[in-house]
Amino acid sequence: MLKKFLTCLCMLLVLTCTTTVAAKPAELTGINAFDLDNETFRIEISYRGGKLFDDNISFDEKSGIVRLELENTLPGRISRSSGTQIQDDAKNFVEKISVNKTAERHTRIQIFLMDSSKGVYVSLEPANSSEKKDARVVVDVKKVYASLGGGESSMRLRDFDERLKRDGYDISNGYFKRGGGRGGHVIVIDPGHGGSDTGAVGPTGVSEKSVSLAVSLKAQKLLTAEGYRVIMTRTTDIDVAAPGVPDGVELQARVDKSPPDTEIFISVHCNAFSNANSHGMETFHAPTAVQGKRLATLLNEELERLGGLYNRGVKGARFYVMTHSKCPASLIELGFITNPREEKLLASSDYQYKLAQAITNAVNRYFNQGGSN
Ligand SMILES: [Zn+2]
Repeated sequence: MLKKFLTCLCMLLVLTCTTTVAAKPAELTGINAFDLDNETFRIEISYRGGKLFDDNISFDEKSGIVRLELENTLPGRISRSSGTQIQDDAKNFVEKISVNKTAERHTRIQIFLMDSSKGVYVSLEPANSSEKKDARVVVDVKKVYASLGGGESSMRLRDFDERLKRDGYDISNGYFKRGGGRGGHVIVIDPGHGGSDTGAVGPTGVSEKSVSLAVSLKAQKLLTAEGYRVIMTRTTDIDVAAPGVPDGVELQARVDKSPPDTEIFISVHCNAFSNANSHGMETFHAPTAVQGKRLATLLNEELERLGGLYNRGVKGARFYVMTHSKCPASLIELGFITNPREEKLLASSDYQYKLAQAITNAVNRYFNQGGSN
């Protein structure tokens, strides 16, 4: 629900309820560690079957362990401790690699390094049928030139960082990720409300803040798997600024989460009205924003196609996060949480997944059609 923005448009609605099947899991087919060049060891983790989500990738410099938490992924044949190859030329750098199924459809891979490393770079590569290669998670471990003098060593490492930056790597967090074909476009996803602000609440008690967060987190995973750099204004149930601050302060705190190179900003909400019959989905853009309107239109088309709710249209409005973002921005209303049928849909994990897919499709279309500003 938009603060101080309520509309009523009552129409008959024929709702088609559909069910989705959870995304088919990926299955690991091989792990290969080898010496790539003077600067890099590479570990390729191949997989087949479904879509893998790299839920969490961390590198603990002290212990020298690179840990990948892979969601929607099964160890496959790797679970029987075969299928992992550390080539001879990598054996003085990679001590061992462990693969464990830690939960249903969740696999943890740990790469134990012999030596310290300056950085770990992760990218996703699609399958290549002509080279008979499965889809891969590629982990590049940057070598440290311990034998070189300090000056020369740091110079080489700095040059390497510059090269990676030019190639579109994100080098901000101690680990690195590059887009698998999406060029690392930078996106901010803003789950509306949170913390002390529940947003609208449906007849059975489903809150807007929980739906906006659940859909946004699913979209974050899908977009990250597509190779985008996704910044979230929140990932938990919190006020982004602080509880009880004026609306403008809270909303500005969300806008301020955008790094300078942000290309699009998407704020996720649910609608509400006193009449429980009000229903449908709609998307917004700042009134004169050409690219914002294009973004809102693509989101509207995909939400209609995958979400299936009555389409209330694409509209111009002066909402704070849209008029204060420095990049094209859109605010989307996924459906009416005050409508019993739509509340039930919005609370369903399957339906949330569809909405996240719709957002991802719209973002893909936005950038495929030359939308970067
Ligand atoms: Zn809202």
